[in-house]
Amino acid sequence: MKIEIIDLDFKNTQQVIASFLLLSDDGSSAAIIETGPTTCLERLTTGLKDHGVAHEDIGQVFVTHIHLDHAGASGHVSELLPNATFYVHEVGYPHLVDPSKLVKSATRIYGEGMDELWGEARPVPEDRVVVLKEGEETEAAGGVLVAHDTPGHAYHHLAYLEPDSGSLFTGDVAGIRLPGQSYVRPPTPPPEIDVEAWVGSINHVRQLDPASLWLTHFGRYEDAGRHLGELEQRLQDWLLFVEGQLDEGAGREEISEELKAKGDAEMLAEGADPAQSEHYDMAGSYPMLTDGLMRYATRRREKR
Ligand SMILES: [Zn+2]
Repeated sequence: MKIEIIDLDFKNTQQVIASFLLLSDDGSSAAIIETGPTTCLERLTTGLKDHGVAHEDIGQVFVTHIHLDHAGASGHVSELLPNATFYVHEVGYPHLVDPSKLVKSATRIYGEGMDELWGEARPVPEDRVVVLKEGEETEAAGGVLVAHDTPGHAYHHLAYLEPDSGSLFTGDVAGIRLPGQSYVRPPTPPPEIDVEAWVGSINHVRQLDPASLWLTHFGRYEDAGRHLGELEQRLQDWLLFVEGQLDEGAGREEISEELKAKGDAEMLAEGADPAQSEHYDMAGSYPMLTDGLMRYATRRREKR
């Protein structure tokens, strides 16, 4: 099996959102992991064309979770790829076949920016969607993919392992990282992040011992052990930081600014180009990450 990255050029910017194209060695069958948002649909179809893949040859579309940057174009893609079956976590399933609730919830976060960012979300016909559970194997592109339940960024998150090469397609569970950088940013948007579950999923990923991590935001990395260690540490550290800020009575805007200052300093300390911070923002901006962490911290307190 060959694996190609299709850069979806989100907002005309390279290396923000990826779709992964899996090709059988004889070129007769193909699969996709992540559709990206509807606003990137043309880029996705151009990518397929560039790799000489006919729409009819794509048998499977796997999505890691149903957030609009990962799976927003699913309905449109189902219309374009007549032979593709869609694979999703069982909790994500209802939203793939009827995205109206998802769109409502995303509108609360993105407001008027919805259309420009994500475009229209259409339903995928029910009879073309299959639910996957932990450990389930699906034949695709001349090989298999194994689904792994990896909650934390979202409850309904799957990572997909291609066991032959040890390639793990991590969606958002392994964070955001840009090519040429070592820095890993935890994507912690509202409404469902769960840091405890996430740390469990990071351990789950470690147990899979992947040879490479393929991040939707963005690219392929081979230093899985170091990468996952950094992500886990930062996730816990940022949560403690936000809790501390809340204790001091800080408001959302202040916490967001402080978190950005902290995150940018951490980037610099790792030798990353601070100009890259804005590029990371396109996959997860500080106001949004702050909202998610604040919500989680507040809920956790209420439970105690
Ligand atoms: Zn994402």
